[in-house]
Amino acid sequence: MRTIRDQFAISPVHRERLAHIGRLADRLAVHAQVADERNQLSLESIEALKAMRYPAYTVPREWGGLGIGLYELVLYQERLAQGDASIALGIGWHLGIIYDLKEKRSWRESVFRNLCKEIVEKGALVNRAATERATGSPSRGGKPQTIAIRKKGGFELRGRKTFTTLAPVLDYFIVTATIEGTDEHAEFLVPRETRGLRIDPTWNMVGMRGTASHDLVLDGVRLPEEALVCIKTDSHRRAASPYLLFIPACYLGIALAARREALKFAASYQPNTLDRPILYTSNVQQLLGQMDLELSAARHYLYAVAERWDERPDDPVLLEPDLGAVKTYAVQTALSVVDKAMRIVGAHGLALSHPLQRMYRDVRFGLHNPPMDDMVIHSLAQRAVKEAENGNQRDPMGI
Ligand SMILES: Cc1cc2nc3c(=O)[nH]c(=O)nc-3n(C[C@H](O)[C@H](O)[C@H](O)COP(=O)(O)OP(=O)(O)OC[C@H]3O[C@@H](n4cnc5c(N)ncnc54)[C@H](O)[C@@H]3O)c2cc1C
Repeated sequence: MRTIRDQFAISPVHRERLAHIGRLADRLAVHAQVADERNQLSLESIEALKAMRYPAYTVPREWGGLGIGLYELVLYQERLAQGDASIALGIGWHLGIIYDLKEKRSWRESVFRNLCKEIVEKGALVNRAATERATGSPSRGGKPQTIAIRKKGGFELRGRKTFTTLAPVLDYFIVTATIEGTDEHAEFLVPRETRGLRIDPTWNMVGMRGTASHDLVLDGVRLPEEALVCIKTDSHRRAASPYLLFIPACYLGIALAARREALKFAASYQPNTLDRPILYTSNVQQLLGQMDLELSAARHYLYAVAERWDERPDDPVLLEPDLGAVKTYAVQTALSVVDKAMRIVGAHGLALSHPLQRMYRDVRFGLHNPPMDDMVIHSLAQRAVKEAENGNQRDPMGI
């Protein structure tokens, strides 16, 4: 029977792939609990993703990947997060970055093609190490304290990055650095086996524990000239990018998983004050209805924006603020839905052995993934101000 879980799979290809990913997600759920308890990345889950060639889903078709668009990325990531949110967020960074590079072709073709070859042939994994203590969220455009010093034939990198998701299993790190003596920010593609690179296992948070988002230390890392893959311009520092839609998908996935736990509980829990399970009480049904109302609005918004972007909108200026707004809206919804699921399950959900308490901790992290709420609200306000100013010029009497 089709449920709200697969309601956005609108073609036979979607349904087939989603069913495949759904089976995997259900297997990952078992490892998620252990990873959380041990504060460790689940290596079994990463191997399972590689075995089904998931890391190649966004690699361009001409180089052996599936070349999926934004809508499919959101669809599969949301489902994966229902099994293990940490793994979904981690592999989401990898898939999103490759999607973005596929769309923009901003790197030298040979470098991108070689990376894609390794992803297709060996399941290589990549992520961006952009955050530092001094900059906070890189989406605010802070100057990296990691420096790239020009040397004969290349560069030397020195610095420390925080929040490097999937650090223990990455084959490549995309490291942002300031080129010494300039104001230029650049990105360098750094292979894991480079001398001077090490992981400092600092990650010990209350949630998303399975992401292993440790510090990356660059201690005199020597790189050839071609490791510089991109000079960051202002247009690269936009608050929201289409590829970041894997983030709202992840947090809505957590909300859907919490809803499922609440439904399962409500259908089976029957205290001796009732002659039927609590599923049939009006207080529980009010919460269930409210959860589905909120989820429905957030998911329709997310999938509509993804589809619109896939269709190459003529007016990105109009749609860009929605890329951020949809994340803010999805995370607010996910927080509210998980809270309601917790109310349905009551104190049972607070047991450390219960999956809901992990979802309750994990969902909070959505607030601290980009784009940040204040920047999103600001960009929406700017769009409205521009509209008012343009309206004023055309018709000074009324906006
Ligand atoms: C689970 C998880 C995984 C992550 N994975 C990665 C990754 O793989 N790679 C990576 O590079 N990063 C990663 N990050 C880092 C993430 O992108 C943010 O950089 C990080 O969470 C810090 O964001 P913050 O808003 O909490 O911190 P800060 O930017 O330090 O903000 C702290 C507070 O100060 C305020 N503030 C800071 N600067 C300003 C300003 N200019 N104007 C107004 N208010 C300001 C904020 O609103 C907030 O209230 C990850 C984060 C999480 C939680």
